[in-house]
Amino acid sequence: MMDKSVEHRWRAPQVIVPPPGPNSRLYLEREKRLFSKSWHTDKDVPFIVRRKKGWILEDVDGNRFIDTATGWASTPLGAAHEEVTQATVDALWESGVECTDYVTFAHLFPLAEKLVAISPERLTRVAPDTTGTEAVECAVRLMREASGRPFVITFYGGFHGGNYGTGGAGPLEPSVTRGIKQFVGGYIHAPYPYCYRCPFKLSHPKCDLWCLDTIENTILRYETTADQIAGLLIEPVEGEAGVIIPPDDYFPRLRELCDKYGWYLCADEVQTGFGRTGKMFCLEHWGVEPDVMPLAKALSGGALPIAAVLGSEELLANCELYLGGTFAWHPAACAGALKSIEVMERERVLDHVAELERHAVDRLGPLVRRYEIVGDVRIKGLYIALEFVKDKVSKEPVPALTREIHLGCIRRGLVPVHEQGLWWLRLYPALNMPRDTFALACDVVEEAIEEVSREHGLGVV
Ligand code: PMP
Repeated sequence: MMDKSVEHRWRAPQVIVPPPGPNSRLYLEREKRLFSKSWHTDKDVPFIVRRKKGWILEDVDGNRFIDTATGWASTPLGAAHEEVTQATVDALWESGVECTDYVTFAHLFPLAEKLVAISPERLTRVAPDTTGTEAVECAVRLMREASGRPFVITFYGGFHGGNYGTGGAGPLEPSVTRGIKQFVGGYIHAPYPYCYRCPFKLSHPKCDLWCLDTIENTILRYETTADQIAGLLIEPVEGEAGVIIPPDDYFPRLRELCDKYGWYLCADEVQTGFGRTGKMFCLEHWGVEPDVMPLAKALSGGALPIAAVLGSEELLANCELYLGGTFAWHPAACAGALKSIEVMERERVLDHVAELERHAVDRLGPLVRRYEIVGDVRIKGLYIALEFVKDKVSKEPVPALTREIHLGCIRRGLVPVHEQGLWWLRLYPALNMPRDTFALACDVVEEAIEEVSREHGLGVV
């Protein structure tokens, strides 16, 4: 049953039946029978959703949860935002779906112009797409085509999609590269600045970014020569790997390296883009411009799938590659995407992100000192992760305890992001989530951590 104090505080969201409730159980059984095993095994949400509005999820048993998964960061203004949905539906009624890479619609132009206007200066052109995976793959093709060079450097812990082109790129974990890696060449991997678990056991700033130096002293020494490298593909903050935030000097130095060797810099902003980290695009934090930038997820405004590659004149002005696809930038998806950006600007959503970020830093940051199992708390805007360990010295990962914390959050009516086997919990709240709701979400996270710590006799200060 629900903790009484939690139940009293929450009128909605509220958990009336411990999840999975009876209706969810029936669906979960059907899911197992109907879908591929991989579709349901890693999922760690023990209920089936009936509907969703703003930051509230309602399951098929009538439970209500605060949603900090936000369609995996694809509903920046919450689910079914009124203006975004209206703009999308109006365009659908007007035109339905169109294959705009054959019949161009007027709807494409204001969106393309808006994207160029809000993105870094050197990105002046747009290649339409439907998903993040496709957009990243396009970006890789563009870099290779323009340079005439075969290799792209990617980074451990990166995730760029799951098809052949992208699954072989960011080696997040073996389940992503399985069945792909043996067939896909052309990627060389470098270490990401994961300072909490530095692969060289160094610490920043004393390390002077040795991880970055390995590109020159290892890759260029043993793997290939600089003139065989088209560019770098990198997430500005690695999301799937647990919100790994590079130190402030990393990207400026990476840009210098690219300039030194004539390599393109591709910033995969599929997950970080559109305000998630507190800037419209994450690389703005460090004053660095990429040459090419795949976008998806939050570009949709939480309405219909849409993606884009923004690129420099050099990459896109004379590009003759076939990019795009049947559903890329159909009119309704464009209308929703444009409206979402307009609302973000009009309502100064980035200011709100900064306010919630301050709360997260004040509220979640100190948990590292209070609980032995909280190894690291990483926050950039509303891109938030807590990494759990057996103790601060060994830093041994504790996926089972992390799962208990996650399920503890769900029992209390909060849905974070967690996948089985991983030892970090992520929070991706809607960027316009009310402060009280966000504060409640943070309180719940601590309650769940405290419960698990006490149950297992782990240190609580
Ligand atoms: N790049 C990044 C950084 C991502 O996080 C993801 C998805 N999580 C993708 C690419 C792939 O996007 P999609 O799922 O839309 O294909």
